[in-house]
Amino acid sequence: MTQHHPSPDILAEYAGGALHAGAMLVIACHIDGCAVCRSEVALWENTAGALLEDAAPAPLSDDALARVLARLDTAEPEPVRHAVPDFLERFALPAPLKSQKIGRRRQVTPNIWFAPLDMPSQGSTRTYLVYAGRNTVLAEHSHAGREFTQVLKGAFVDGTGRYDEADFACTDDAITHTPAVTRESECLCLISTDKPMRLTGFPARIIQAVTGTLY
Ligand SMILES: [Zn+2]
Repeated sequence: MTQHHPSPDILAEYAGGALHAGAMLVIACHIDGCAVCRSEVALWENTAGALLEDAAPAPLSDDALARVLARLDTAEPEPVRHAVPDFLERFALPAPLKSQKIGRRRQVTPNIWFAPLDMPSQGSTRTYLVYAGRNTVLAEHSHAGREFTQVLKGAFVDGTGRYDEADFACTDDAITHTPAVTRESECLCLISTDKPMRLTGFPARIIQAVTGTLY
């Protein structure tokens, strides 16, 4: 049973398409497996639709039909679907993640790897998968802006609580945390941040030197 969900504000931003592409993907992956949030997003979308219907109809200009037909002629091509990399085949991935372009994994320690997602116009945002073996502590870090996490496999704990498979976590620049994977299972998470994370501890700074500001 999912314990941690995106806040109503975040779901409203998602419904309005107001989040950056990586954050949209994390929420899409959450609602793929969460009927509660799925119905809340549908409510927001219906509300937005009703507001549009209430608005006075704008008069159509004479060439409106021609312009619509021209747009149909140049319809966007089908988005490219990317194959799931070998190293992810053993995981049950949510549908929205499966067609994403996922880069090669970078082993940070024997127990931890990162794999970046190639998102459109990502700017300073970062979206990536992070894997850690059971009983592994990740580097202490803080954030500039928000960090969205969706647990795809296993569970982790940090100062704010325990996050199990299908749970969502949001942290911001007020939080410095040291996530630790529980001893029962390995852990795979999808993470999207507004800006690269800031590692704080000493071993962490070595990791940052290795990975640069990729994550
Ligand atoms: Zn939910």
